[in-house]
Amino acid sequence: MDKILITGGAGFIGSHVARQLLASGSRVVILDNLDPFYDVRIKRRNLQALQATAPSGAFEFVEGDIRDAEACQAALRDATAVLHIAALAGVRPSIQDPVRYMDVNVTGTQTLLEALRRLPGPVPFVFASSSSVYGGSDKLPFRESDPVDRPVSPYAASKKAGEVVCAAFHHLWASPVTCLRFFTVYGPGQRPEMAIHKFSRAIVRGEPLPFFGDGTTRRDYTYVDDVVAGVVSALQRADGYRIYNLGGSHTTSLTELVQKLEKAFGKAAVLDRRPEQPGDVKQTYADVQLAERELGFRPRVGMDEGIERFARWYLAERAAGNVA
Ligand code: NAD
Repeated sequence: MDKILITGGAGFIGSHVARQLLASGSRVVILDNLDPFYDVRIKRRNLQALQATAPSGAFEFVEGDIRDAEACQAALRDATAVLHIAALAGVRPSIQDPVRYMDVNVTGTQTLLEALRRLPGPVPFVFASSSSVYGGSDKLPFRESDPVDRPVSPYAASKKAGEVVCAAFHHLWASPVTCLRFFTVYGPGQRPEMAIHKFSRAIVRGEPLPFFGDGTTRRDYTYVDDVVAGVVSALQRADGYRIYNLGGSHTTSLTELVQKLEKAFGKAAVLDRRPEQPGDVKQTYADVQLAERELGFRPRVGMDEGIERFARWYLAERAAGNVA
């Protein structure tokens, strides 16, 4: 039986992947230090939900840090594949604390790989990278073969560095490594500081919504179930060193996003207009042909449907007192 280690599995994307893997009969180990970047109660609830639905003995949680070699070794015992998703996420906070971002996202990745190397045989390794590695590129859509050596934030630089650390590991130890560049992931459980979640909170509470720039910046939003399908496929097909975009392959402007949320909640937003932020990029847009060919990846949930689902989840969680 598979035993998949998910680092960062208490968080948003990792807990969705864990649920899917458990439902399809895999065993799952989560290594997560419950970092207080956002409300830790959300992460604890994610873990409780996994524990409550997992078959007996199929789920294990190791509270620990990916920068701790012993914690990595303990979590890796008998692992048949690794999904390395643990990271400090978020572009803007990385500008305030770049050294910590590099420590967790780069040194943490190297520490985990060093523990992986000590296992008896090669174990497929899937790394959560990001569309932010494309920086301010205006060559659209973004292709995996595009140059990505001009990141515009420490977060983006740390994700690019993570890919490079993975490449060296693959070269030295011939262990299969796949880097997945996620494009703004949303859906139930989305991190509370991300735009869709933050805007929803502001609209529902009737509070001013922080609106950066003139509304023309565009993002390729990806529904979390689509990302999960891509991740599971990557875990099953790991071979060589590969990089894939996992995106919705459709862009939405900031103004359109707010309009969609207003429609979903049946309420007008109050905009608090602010200048564009350093580190933000004008546009993200994924070319997913390579992921489609090699992983069978195909985004299925469009923005209108995805936002409706997010709004239903948000209102239910709010009624239950689980979100602000
Ligand atoms: P998240 O913050 O919800 O999950 C990350 C998890 O990593 C958290 O549970 C956190 O406690 C854990 N973690 C942080 N530092 C750790 C450490 N030192 N040791 C062990 N665990 C640690 O974020 P998410 O939105 O689920 O993102 C998951 C991954 O996908 C991250 O690597 C992120 O950079 C990447 N990504 C996310 C998006 C997105 O739109 N959500 C887009 C691109 C890339």
